[in-house]
Amino acid sequence: MDNEEMTLFRDMTRRALEHEIAPHIETWEEQHIVPRSLWNKLGEAGLLCPDLPEAYGAAETSPQVTFSVIEELSHMGFGGIATGYSIHSNIVAPYIEHFGTEEQKQQWLHKMVAGEALGALAMTEPGAGSDVQSIRTNAVQDGDEWILNGSKIFITNGMLADLVIVAAITDPGKGAKGTSLFLVDTTLPGFDRGKKIEKLGQHTSDTAELFFQDMRLPANALLGELNKGFVIMMKELPRERLGIAAQAIAAAEGAMEITIDYVKERKAFGQTVASFQNTRFTLADVKTDIAVNRAFYEKCADAYTREELTSEDAAMLKYASTEMQCKTIDQCLQLFGGYGYTIEYPISRYYADARIQRIYGGTSEIMRELVARSILGR
Ligand SMILES: Cc1cc2nc3c(=O)[nH]c(=O)nc-3n(C[C@H](O)[C@H](O)[C@H](O)COP(=O)(O)OP(=O)(O)OC[C@H]3O[C@@H](n4cnc5c(N)ncnc54)[C@H](O)[C@@H]3O)c2cc1C
Repeated sequence: MDNEEMTLFRDMTRRALEHEIAPHIETWEEQHIVPRSLWNKLGEAGLLCPDLPEAYGAAETSPQVTFSVIEELSHMGFGGIATGYSIHSNIVAPYIEHFGTEEQKQQWLHKMVAGEALGALAMTEPGAGSDVQSIRTNAVQDGDEWILNGSKIFITNGMLADLVIVAAITDPGKGAKGTSLFLVDTTLPGFDRGKKIEKLGQHTSDTAELFFQDMRLPANALLGELNKGFVIMMKELPRERLGIAAQAIAAAEGAMEITIDYVKERKAFGQTVASFQNTRFTLADVKTDIAVNRAFYEKCADAYTREELTSEDAAMLKYASTEMQCKTIDQCLQLFGGYGYTIEYPISRYYADARIQRIYGGTSEIMRELVARSILGR
């Protein structure tokens, strides 16, 4: 896509989101979930997994187009839906595209593009978050099948997912070198969802606990090579972090825009809030922080499309952009005064949705650890 086509695509995306999401967002926020049909609608609008090959019904664009949908969702203050979208289009689909067999791609990718199959990625367990190597969910081979046992927690799209990529131990005692990934069809017996986990923000992103009890998976459920689950995860993490950065920067930009509108209208001491030097300097700081992060993000996104994005740069970007998001949105909310703390004003949603960004996809502390390792070694 050239620049003109990208502008047209973004306009089309914005219109579709204004039509499909904006009128319902408050209701879905209250319900703490989106209707399953939203994903079919986004599929019909051509917004799901646009960078997958045409052979699977997608537009075969560059990954930048997928990032642009994440940005539009985030900019409009639909942070929870942006996360669900990102898991589906920016994580699960690329895992299958890059590491699946043709049979697996045929089985899942058409449906993912159409929104008929919603994807989730399940790594985290109650005893294994940052330390993913400590997972206990395991898969044992039995003839041609695998038997999966264990549980996962905090799984985005978990309540609605039709397909879950599950990390499981396949060679006990070997840690990372004994972990494999499985494509788990949630209609199979032995799969169960716990209750929806209630959260501080991102209410439109359903987060669930998942259980696997003697779940029999066919041989072709194994994604990629046996015991290479960690190698796959490491290869895909930079893209996941780029998606989180796209959310961070676009959400901060969206928050800044509504703040600018508000301070121009709101009056105190006979003048607009915009006229106070504190407001002017705060907005100058916010704009500067966003611009610096956007420049690094664009650099990393370009590097990714050239297959040159390093894991250190992805970690620095995820760390810097999500910290920036939380800081700048907090500064913006402050300029709304008490109204900023009320649900009626969307700035409060930008604020609540932002907080998790410094935690999932690798916490800020883990990002700093990764960057430090790139400087000083282990
Ligand atoms: C809303 C939401 C959605 C999520 N979606 C998904 C999903 O779709 N799929 C999925 O698999 N997971 C998902 N997660 C899980 C998320 O990735 C983990 O919560 C995250 O990785 C942190 O793990 P933890 O919660 O176990 O915290 P812990 O690992 O217990 O960390 C606790 C604290 O210790 C710090 N810490 C840990 N290790 C170190 C260290 N070596 N050095 C310094 N500090 C350290 C952490 O930074 C943190 O501050 C989601 C979580 C939430 C809340």
